[in-house]
Amino acid sequence: MLTCRQFLQELNDYLDAKVNMELKRRIESHISDCQECFGVVDTIRMTIQLYQRVEPQPLPEGVRTRLLKALEEKVAQRKQVQTQRIPGLWF
Ligand SMILES: [Zn+2]
Repeated sequence: MLTCRQFLQELNDYLDAKVNMELKRRIESHISDCQECFGVVDTIRMTIQLYQRVEPQPLPEGVRTRLLKALEEKVAQRKQVQTQRIPGLWF
């Protein structure tokens, strides 16, 4: 079973269909078990579709990197809430 962090690390390759069958299977089983990561994939797929409707080109690398980074921070923040609360510590 992948952790959410591992999932996010592999997500880029998964979306590019660069992962092998075994990893693809593990990623898809994580999505079906994890509501949060399912939402992440859903959001990215919608964003990609939106882009492709505007101009028929692959999603620019920068956009997806920024999107993934934002999602990674979101997941990390949600986990920090349970263990530590430090007001004013925003980078
Ligand atoms: Zn997850």
